[in-house]
Amino acid sequence: MVSIDDLPIRDELRGQSPYGAPQLDVPVRLNTNENPYPLPESVVASIAERVTEAARSLNRYPDRDAVELRTELARYLSRSGGLAVGPAQVWAANGSNEVLQQLLQTFAGPGRTAIGFEPSYSMHAIISRGTGTGWVSGPRNADFTIDVGAAERAIAELAPDVVFVCSPNNPTGTAVSAETVLRLYEAAQAAKPSLVVVDEAYGEFSHRPSLLPLIEGRPHLVLTRTMSKAFGAAGLRLGYLAADPAVVDAVQLVRLPYHLSAVTQATALAALEHTGTLLAYVEQLKGERDRLVAELTALGCEVTESDANFVQFGRFPDARAMWRRLLEHGVLVRDNGVPGHLRVTAGTPQENDAFLEAVRVSLKDLK
Ligand code: PMP
Repeated sequence: MVSIDDLPIRDELRGQSPYGAPQLDVPVRLNTNENPYPLPESVVASIAERVTEAARSLNRYPDRDAVELRTELARYLSRSGGLAVGPAQVWAANGSNEVLQQLLQTFAGPGRTAIGFEPSYSMHAIISRGTGTGWVSGPRNADFTIDVGAAERAIAELAPDVVFVCSPNNPTGTAVSAETVLRLYEAAQAAKPSLVVVDEAYGEFSHRPSLLPLIEGRPHLVLTRTMSKAFGAAGLRLGYLAADPAVVDAVQLVRLPYHLSAVTQATALAALEHTGTLLAYVEQLKGERDRLVAELTALGCEVTESDANFVQFGRFPDARAMWRRLLEHGVLVRDNGVPGHLRVTAGTPQENDAFLEAVRVSLKDLK
């Protein structure tokens, strides 16, 4: 039997684990921050129509620059994000993970470093390592907010090439203020200058407005977004960024030709035709998220303020034991390895009821 250890893989990948949220078949799955609502039939019909059309020319490569799609994404951002942007400021790829990978391939890589403030989205570190980028884990306060002073000092000392700011932050849930992002941006410009990537995968769920307006006049600030969460289309694999047009030109140096299939472009365009319908679910999920915060608090849990479609809750002497108990009650949540804490995605009202009941019973069991 050959194992990974026997293979001549790159040294920095030795001993690492792949991204691995369990995909278990349980009645209530609230562990990967998906939108619980399937796309409505009207959207499915539009997708079928657009994809049928695209199928007629699958003998040809798709639009390499995805201009129509970037135009529609720019329209959506301009309507909802507080800044008018055009297609030259928008770039799209297969999920925001691929957007992040392209940014690191372009602005980081061997001999360069990236910093993030952990706990945060684990893929920032994993994609950094995967692109040969040195990874530095920066500090956070005990309440999981960014310790701005400590972050500024870390940036000044390290002079990293890429600074990640996740807002709202996964797995803790809280959005970052514009003032904090600006202070980190200033520190990063004084130190290098470096690229500051604001990962706004959960931006639509926030109590705060989008950080999109900050890209204006700041060519080293990039905002990333996804259709996986608010648009309820995680299976589509469509992420995008907004930044100075020069950043969009730069990532094209590393993107694979025709990386966005004609089927993907057609599907995303169809979903974007129904933005109003799809974002109505966001309002409902925000209400359910707030209910989870209130009810978990009432159950005696320590709950982190959430601007996302998930809630971090604790504090458990043994978070793994609590995670197992909830699973025994048919509810799958996420153990992100944050000591004493678990994370639950806001589901349908029925799923959330089942989750809250499982917490109630499990807390009693573990007493
Ligand atoms: N950023 C954050 C903070 C996320 O939580 C996720 C998905 N879990 C992503 C990016 C990637 O999303 P996708 O590749 O589906 O766009």
